Amino acid sequence: MASSPLDWLFGMFSLDIGIDLGTANTLVNVRNKGIVINEPSWVVIDKKTRRPLAIGAEAKELAGRTPANIIAVRPIRDGVISEFEITQSMLEYFINKAHEQSIVPIPRPRVVIGIPSGVTEVEKRAVYDAALAAGAREAYLIEEPTAAAIGAGLQIGESRGSMIVDIGGGTTEVAIFSMGGIVVSRSLRVAGDEMDQDITAYARNKYNLLIGERMAERAKIAVGSAYPLREEKTFTIRGRNLVTGLPEGVEVSSIELREALSPSVQTIVDILKDAIDEAPPEIVADLMETGICMAGGGSQLQGLVERLTDELKVRVWLAEDSMTCVARGAGRILEDLEHLKRFLVGLQRGSTSH
Ligand code: ADP
Ligand code: MG
Repeated sequence: MASSPLDWLFGMFSLDIGIDLGTANTLVNVRNKGIVINEPSWVVIDKKTRRPLAIGAEAKELAGRTPANIIAVRPIRDGVISEFEITQSMLEYFINKAHEQSIVPIPRPRVVIGIPSGVTEVEKRAVYDAALAAGAREAYLIEEPTAAAIGAGLQIGESRGSMIVDIGGGTTEVAIFSMGGIVVSRSLRVAGDEMDQDITAYARNKYNLLIGERMAERAKIAVGSAYPLREEKTFTIRGRNLVTGLPEGVEVSSIELREALSPSVQTIVDILKDAIDEAPPEIVADLMETGICMAGGGSQLQGLVERLTDELKVRVWLAEDSMTCVARGAGRILEDLEHLKRFLVGLQRGSTSH
């Protein structure tokens, strides 16, 4: 739907990128190429100067293993951009990396960035400024659930209601759409990270076993669940026994981990019930047909689809390629900016990032 041949020509030689600035992972989608970057939203910094030493995959690898003078941080861990400068460095790094990958030297990119829906005006401005500082020709912001819904292929412009749940690392975002607008929304700081913490607490309380964040995540992905599995499984978690102080491995079952994860899963169930409860009855009737679409890494927890379908009495399904929906949805906006710009969030005049 490019409007003129000139636009088309310009499109051929310009770089249009969609970015998912996630609490756990940052993804970059380049038009006509797809996802070119998918790296952890981690930065290793010098404690004193706060200068970034490593970004992305390299930084996550160092997490938990750094010497005293350097630390590994996740600048948007809770869906709040707590560290402006570090977030800016990270964004610049990823935009430049995507730009460098293009074979021909092309003009500065146009960028759409998906941001958590809870961020403040000042934080929005910081992300916008960072994109321009990183060399973007034009920058736009979109709320994560909107980008996720577009990336998942939901027809959010229709009058018929539709619903998305995006479970990431730090936040779960819920939105019910009708006629291109958000009718009901919820943002919750319970998602994948909290599930990891549930497992860490369980190992400590039940087995006196101290385990790292990454071990907890591995156990969750391997055998964590939200609904009885057809075949229950086991996984060996390794850490340090708090009584003996020595290394130890303990075999845990998927039944035990389901128990451990149950408070977080229940919180997510409840927020969805709450959102549906607030929707107008006509839209609830639509949802019985259109169902509820899930996106984000946390939505891949085993048995979550079954659990939610059971509790909500509505069909729940996982978006195709659910971890890339936000980046693809953000990128999609630039394919038809004129018609789709109504889905973007505006910046208030005069807000500054400092
Ligand atoms: P964000 O958008 O906040 O960056 P993501 O959508 O990238 O987050 O999801 C990251 C979260 O998804 C992490 O907590 C990770 O452990 C979790 N995750 C990824 N794969 C799975 C899986 N198969 N089962 C359960 N959780 C998963
Ligand atoms: Mg996300």
